[in-house]
Amino acid sequence: MEQEMRYCIVCGMRKDTGISIWGEFICIACEHEIIDTDVYDEKYPFFIEQMRRIWLKNHA
Ligand SMILES: [Zn+2]
Repeated sequence: MEQEMRYCIVCGMRKDTGISIWGEFICIACEHEIIDTDVYDEKYPFFIEQMRRIWLKNHA
């Protein structure tokens, strides 16, 4: 089975492994980073913003 290369919406890199969330793709590295990121981490708002943008796009 050929794996489709997709652009991760968080890091913008082209990856073949990851998850699809609300029709958008997040690579495995970013997925793990989001899970491991503490709410008080300075990167956390960035992840939330990315997620929110997808959510808004799909629920407009
Ligand atoms: Zn990524």
